[in-house]
Amino acid sequence: MELIHTVDWMKQVARQARSEGAIVGLVPTMGALHAGHLSLVRAARERSSSLVVSIFVNPKQFGPKEDFTRYPRTLDADRAALDPLGVHHIFAPPVEEMYPRGFSTGVEVAGLSERLEGRSRPGHFRGVTTVVLKLFEIVQPSFAFFGRKDAQQGRIIRQMAADLNLDTEIVVCPIVREPDGLALSSRNSYLQAPERAAATVLSRSLAAVRQRIERGERMVQPLVEEMRAVLAAEPLAAVDYAEIVDADTFEPATRLHGSCLAVMAVFIGSTRLIDNMLIEADGAKITCTI
Ligand code: AMP
Repeated sequence: MELIHTVDWMKQVARQARSEGAIVGLVPTMGALHAGHLSLVRAARERSSSLVVSIFVNPKQFGPKEDFTRYPRTLDADRAALDPLGVHHIFAPPVEEMYPRGFSTGVEVAGLSERLEGRSRPGHFRGVTTVVLKLFEIVQPSFAFFGRKDAQQGRIIRQMAADLNLDTEIVVCPIVREPDGLALSSRNSYLQAPERAAATVLSRSLAAVRQRIERGERMVQPLVEEMRAVLAAEPLAAVDYAEIVDADTFEPATRLHGSCLAVMAVFIGSTRLIDNMLIEADGAKITCTI
C-alpha cells in the first residue's frame, strides 16, 4: 500500500494502473476512518483491481463557524486500518496541493444543493462537488463509493456525474451503525458520555417512523410529527431539520410513494449529527431501511 501526497504522482500511478487494464476504484473520505468507511472499502475492493482511498479534510466543505480545524486527523491509524483490506494507494494530499494559490473554480449542482443540508450549510455541497470532481479527474476511477449516511451528497454526486458525462459509476452503500443504532461518524468522537447516550435519539426516531409505517400509515405529515416528537423528547437534542422527502428531488413528500427518505440533522450539544431512513414503496408493499 503506497501513501501518495501529490496530485502529479497520483495521476501517474492511476494512469499506469488503467493502462495495465486495472479497474480503478475510489473511496473518497476525510479520514478518521471507522467501520462505515471500511465497509465502503470492502465493497470497492470487490469491484476494482486497483483501489485508491483518498483522505482529505476538505476546507471548502466547512463553513467559517464549523469544525474544520478541530476535525480529527488520524493518518497513522487510518493507514493501519486500510492495510489489511487490499487497498493499493492512499491519496492524502496537503491542502495547498489540492487548492494552490489562485485556485478559483467551483462546481455546483443547482437546486438539489440548496435544500436541507445545503440550506443549513451554505456552500457545503459546492465544496463537496468541487473536491469530488477534482478527485475523479486525478484518479479517473471506473467506480466511486459513497455511503447512504450522506444521502443528499450521494444524490448530488450522481447528478453531477450524469450532467457532466463522467465515466465514473457512483455506488452508494448501506449505513453502518453501532449496536444501539447510532450511525458511525467521525464526529461521534466529539460526544461526551451523556451526549453519546442521547445521540441514539436519531435512529430511535427513525425506528418510530418505521413502526407507524408498518402499522399502515402512508401520509407523511403524521410520520414527520412522530419523528419530531421522539426527537423533542430528548433534552440534549436540538433539531435542525427533520423531514420526509422524495429521494430523487429532495422536495417534501405528502404521501409515501416510490422512494422517499426520512432525513434529519440534529445537534446533540454542539455536535451536529445527520441520519436517514430509506422508504421504498412497491405497490402496497413498503420497505424501510434504516
Ligand atoms: P466522510 O469521511 O465523513 O467524508 O465520509 C466518507 C464516506 O464514508 C462518505 O461517502 C460517507 O457517506 C461514508 N460514511 C460515513 N459514515 C458512514 C456510515 N456510518 N456508514 C456508511 N458509510 C458512511
